[in-house]
Amino acid sequence: MEFAPLPLIRSALLSQFPHVRMAQSTRQGEAPDAPFDFNLGYNLGDEDSRVTGNIARFAGAVDLEPEDLAFMHQVHGETIREVSEPGAYEDTDALITQQPGVGLTVRTADCVPVMLYAPAANVIAAVHAGWRGTAEHITRKTVERLQADFGAEADSIFAFIGAAAGLCCYEIGDEVAALFPERWLERAEGKPARLDLPGVNRHQLEEAGIPEANIEVCGLCSIHEQHLLHSYRRDGAQSGRMLATIVLREEE
Ligand SMILES: [Zn+2]
Repeated sequence: MEFAPLPLIRSALLSQFPHVRMAQSTRQGEAPDAPFDFNLGYNLGDEDSRVTGNIARFAGAVDLEPEDLAFMHQVHGETIREVSEPGAYEDTDALITQQPGVGLTVRTADCVPVMLYAPAANVIAAVHAGWRGTAEHITRKTVERLQADFGAEADSIFAFIGAAAGLCCYEIGDEVAALFPERWLERAEGKPARLDLPGVNRHQLEEAGIPEANIEVCGLCSIHEQHLLHSYRRDGAQSGRMLATIVLREEE
């Protein structure tokens, strides 16, 4: 069987570097009868065999086998793990590795995937930042780990902020709004506040010292882009999941 190329989101910024690959899946790429379109999340009601096949196709698109991927059991916490092997990591919301060929993954359907690469220090990281993790500064803390544990200099770290719920659509309750400075909120009369979750994460990268020019923001809103992206906020129990991955390439 042959498939058309998988529609993927890539980073133009990170694509400049020969020793790293990065991609984020979309909901496109599955057979028309698939209940969740191109879905990379188990336990949602999709057949496991179909999800496994989709993950294999996604891995193949970045020249990996599914066994090469490192998955997080994401809990909206602030645990950052430094790993050297693929596999599944419990209670984790950020992964760091220097090991070539290990594809760090983040699974999302509105939350922000942040992918980091420090070429001089030869280290990558993948961060899952929903509102809770963002309020705990997980993105900034991950950059600080790259600096403290791997000697990465802030001005030689590069970052891609993937597709996620955007300021245009991401409504939040008052108790969540209270966790964020007003500059990241938009308020319209009689409606819930909206939060710029990708913007807060961009700001955390800048707070850690990463220059603006080293940061690329995808800018696509998962809630908005209903034909392209999965969104839990929009589709609830009918929503599939996307994966973003980053991997250091083996030296040739
Ligand atoms: Zn939107």
